[in-house]
This record gives sequence, structure tokens and C-alpha cells, in this order.
Amino acid sequence: MTVFHSVTDLIGNTPLLQLHKLDSGPCELFLKLENQNPGGSIKDRVALSMVAEAERKGLLKPGGTIIEATAGNTGLGLALIAAQKGYSLVLVVPDKMSREKIFHLRALGAQVLLTRSDVGKGHPAYYQDYARQLADDTPGAFYIDQFNNAANPLAHATTTAPELYDQLDGRIDAIVVGVGSGGTLGGLQAWFAEHSPHTEFVLADPAGSILADQVENGRYKDAGSWLVEGIGEDFIPPLSHLEGVKQAWRVTDGEAFTTVRDLLKIEGVLAGSSTGTLLTAALRYCQSQATPKRVVTFACDSGNKYLSKMFNDDWMRQQGLLSRPQVGDLSDFIA
Ligand code: PMP
Repeated sequence: MTVFHSVTDLIGNTPLLQLHKLDSGPCELFLKLENQNPGGSIKDRVALSMVAEAERKGLLKPGGTIIEATAGNTGLGLALIAAQKGYSLVLVVPDKMSREKIFHLRALGAQVLLTRSDVGKGHPAYYQDYARQLADDTPGAFYIDQFNNAANPLAHATTTAPELYDQLDGRIDAIVVGVGSGGTLGGLQAWFAEHSPHTEFVLADPAGSILADQVENGRYKDAGSWLVEGIGEDFIPPLSHLEGVKQAWRVTDGEAFTTVRDLLKIEGVLAGSSTGTLLTAALRYCQSQATPKRVVTFACDSGNKYLSKMFNDDWMRQQGLLSRPQVGDLSDFIA
């Protein structure tokens, strides 16, 4: 067994689990366990890559300051890496984000600046505009800007893609992905176009996001809202290269949450809400195939931070996503 000497060396090389119990029709379905990265998500790879690239280009010097606008997994990955490498990290976070996430980021040593959630792009308090301005005003600071940072997809083109290819001996018919920044989709597509062009990319999109419309019709209407975290957008992320995707599946919050609860009960994997969207789409894709295919999707992040959400029956009932039992054992209603 290998001994590692830094927690950052634990990023990537994640295991691949074949799902034998869920109904994948004629297909073999594999789940890449990105929840096993040390920061708990697929974004550890990207945080590591973006910091390394900024160092290489001389944009980030020893003791420098990293700035990003996120309360999500990118923030956790950056906080882990900044702490290990001795950088200061300032995260600009919309004030609707959960307290747990903010406590976790602060515990890792990040400075968290809360800003208004009720303003849009172009407003000085909008979290992304605020972060960019802060970086401009802070000498020696580097604004990570994951939505426009080429080192984001590069992380997947150099690590995630070849790992998958090796793990499946080069035989992969389809990869089912969601899009947040589009780094995963863009990076995987770039690598597979060169090494395995027949591999098809399938989009898993939360109902309400505009990305599935764009794939199917080349245009889209206004976005709705959804509860699944980390994927789905109201604009087309430039790094996603959505034009390479031919097929999209829309997944409701209810379907995503039910699937990710089943994933835990049936296959024993505790994953986050976006995994529910991806896995629902992957299962539907598999079940719709006439011939056997080898299909991959991702457990994008760990489920621990959602224990009070979709893994909590009361929360599910409050959202109208689980009905109250009328008969039988009602003991779980007794506080
Ligand atoms: N799932 C989760 C939980 C995420 O946090 C993210 C990143 N926002 C994604 C999926 C999507 O990844 P990407 O940014 O590469 O599109």
C-alpha cells in the first residue's frame, strides 16, 4: 500500500464502481467515485489544476492571495489547496448559502465574504462582479474565475479522462455528465475526441435549467428554478462545448433525490444531489438502449453535506417530494 505525503496527492485516481443492483437495462453502468477526493468532490482536481497553472504562469506568487466567487465545491477544493500551499484565500459567497458550507470553508482557513443573493450580474454586489473588483483592488491577488479558466477543463482532459479510459480498457460507449462551469464536459470531450471519438456524451440536466433546451433545439427560454446543487444553468457556460452533445435528459428534483437515496440504500454509495440527476439520466439512457453499451457517470460529490436535505424525510415532505405514511409505524414523527 502506498504512503502519501500530502493530502493534495490524494486528489484524483478515484475508484470506478460498477452498479449491479440498479436497473441498467442491457448496459453495464459504472460510477466514478469523485466523492472520494479529499475535499469531497470532483472540483478538487480543478482547484489543484487552476492553482498550479497560475503558479506556472507567475500569476500567483508564494504567500499570494487567491480570490474566487463560490460557496460550492470549488471553494472547498481551493480552501484545501490554499491551506496546504500557504496561500490566502478569499471567497465571495452569496448570503443564501448554507451555514454548514460557510463554517466548513472558514474551518479550512478561508476568509468568507458574504454578499447579497438578491442581485444579478452587473450589480456591484453580485458575487462574481464583487470578486472580480476585489481582485483588481488587491495587489498580488489572483482571480480564479473557473467559468473562464482553461485550467478547469484541462484538469479533466489530463486526469479524469485518461483514468476512465484505463479503468475500462478503452471501451466506453457513453459518458453521462452534468454542467455547472462546463469544465467536466469540455475537458472530457476534448480528450475523448482525440482518443476515442465514438464515445458519446449525454447531458443530464435539472428540469428548469436551459441547457437541455439548447442541446435539443439550439435555443432556450427563460430558466426556472431547481433544488439540485452544482449543475444546471441559466446561460451557456463557454467551457462546456455543449455543441458536442447530441442527447439530453431533463431530471426533476424529485427524481434526482429519489435516485440518490436509492443509490445509498441499494448500492451503498452516499453521494450528493447532482449525482441523483446524473444517475437518473444514465439509468434512463441505459434502459432506452437496444444493444448493450458500456456507460459511465459520476458521483460528483459526497452526500454528507446533504444529510439535512434529501436524506432527511421531513425535509423531503416539506418539499412535497415524499408523502406522509397514513398507516403503520409512525414513530419517526415523534420528536
Ligand atoms: N456536481 C457538483 C456537486 C458540482 O459542485 C459541480 C460543479 N459546480 C458539478 C457537478 C459540475 O461540474 P462542472 O463545473 O465541471 O460542470
